[in-house]
Amino acid sequence: MTAAVEAAEVGYPVVLVEKEPFLGGRVVRSHRYFPKMCPPTCGFEINVRRIRGNPKITVHTLSTVEEVSGEVGAFRARIRKQPRYVTGDVSIDDSVTEQLASERPDEFNMGLQTTKGLYYPHNAAYPPLHVVDKEALSDGDVAVLAEACPPGAIDLDMTEEEFTIDVGAVIVATGWKGYDPGKLPKLGFDRCPDVVTNLMIERFAAPNGPTEGKILRPSNGEAPEKVAFVQCAGSRDENHLPYCSAVCCMASLKQARYIREAYPDAKVTIFYIDIRTLGRLEKFYYELLEDDNISFVKGKVAEVNEDPDTHELILEVEDTVAGERPDSRFDMVVLATGIVPNTADSPIPLELDHDDYGFLNGATGVEGVFAAGCATHPCDVSRTTKESTAAALKAIQCLNRG
Ligand SMILES: Cc1cc2nc3c(=O)[nH]c(=O)nc-3n(C[C@H](O)[C@H](O)[C@H](O)COP(=O)(O)OP(=O)(O)OC[C@H]3O[C@@H](n4cnc5c(N)ncnc54)[C@H](O)[C@@H]3O)c2cc1C
Repeated sequence: MTAAVEAAEVGYPVVLVEKEPFLGGRVVRSHRYFPKMCPPTCGFEINVRRIRGNPKITVHTLSTVEEVSGEVGAFRARIRKQPRYVTGDVSIDDSVTEQLASERPDEFNMGLQTTKGLYYPHNAAYPPLHVVDKEALSDGDVAVLAEACPPGAIDLDMTEEEFTIDVGAVIVATGWKGYDPGKLPKLGFDRCPDVVTNLMIERFAAPNGPTEGKILRPSNGEAPEKVAFVQCAGSRDENHLPYCSAVCCMASLKQARYIREAYPDAKVTIFYIDIRTLGRLEKFYYELLEDDNISFVKGKVAEVNEDPDTHELILEVEDTVAGERPDSRFDMVVLATGIVPNTADSPIPLELDHDDYGFLNGATGVEGVFAAGCATHPCDVSRTTKESTAAALKAIQCLNRG
């Protein structure tokens, strides 16, 4: 979004291609973002306003780039666009959705709740449109839609479209996903309901999430009293992700704040290898060191098991500074899972330079193609937006080189 508005605001036409039904990537799925702790919608809404008001930007959601041919200054991209089945010409009342029967996983909330087959992706969604998941509709739902939707609002005969666009330069900003906690069986995600991931905590804490802003133990819906954060869950581990995922320490510090703000008596322990809070972010960490209810223990958690009698979670870990076993019983455990580039298993249709883990080089090895943000390395929003602005400048420069 940043690269698009930066290029468009100096006069270049931009086509923004997004595979989801809405813009905003992972950032709109956060509750608040460090270091300012403001809701992600702050920056997002500014970008939406810049996009909406700029006729030079064309947005294609539910779309992917299937093929890119040509060369710098004269690329041709083939776009595939999935049907939304919602025309956008007539608004749809929420009461229609409520009448539908079948449920489907809510991707915006990581499948932690369901939506109906006609749904509004989230309250700040842009474009501000419902979506139909046609496969999820029962025959009864189809009849309800025909009956209850205003004429012209829905078109279940829409089909997938393919079209080409001609562009001079390409910016790849396909971002990341969380490391699969199922690949860390010793840490108990698949065995213990109260072992959750850092991405799940963002959704629990968010008012538009599955628990309407309450961080609760999934096993019993109660408020947690003792929470452990397991840092480097997958990251800095030769068997998983050998690299540092760069943002997980700050993410856990932020989430420890969510818990302490919600539950003044709750105790939080962060188990870490090293706390990595670069530059001015260090202040955020030092502030938490003042909180008597937050402890930091240097030690890599080897295993998490549930006590069958008390349902407490027991961590196998040693405090390597004190040289002793710390208090290791908790009622909720958050795995600080790392960042994996989407390009690792969904490569885009261009032969671009990348490392062993799928992260692209910013200068991609193809003239006129640039990459930015977590597609290139794990990083925070501030770094992502700076790199995206730089990528927009690089794209403009190559179009003017003549
Ligand atoms: C637990 C956690 C908490 C975090 N909290 C913070 C925080 O508080 N503050 C902060 O600064 N940073 C935070 N971050 C980091 C932040 O999420 C990233 O910096 C940011 O998401 C990077 O943005 P991006 O645009 O590179 O990628 P993304 O946000 O992943 O966006 C990529 C977009 O590309 C789309 N896409 C992917 N593949 C395709 C394709 N083939 N075709 C079309 N579209 C595609 C995706 O749908 C998505 O919309 C956190 C990270 C984690 C793990």
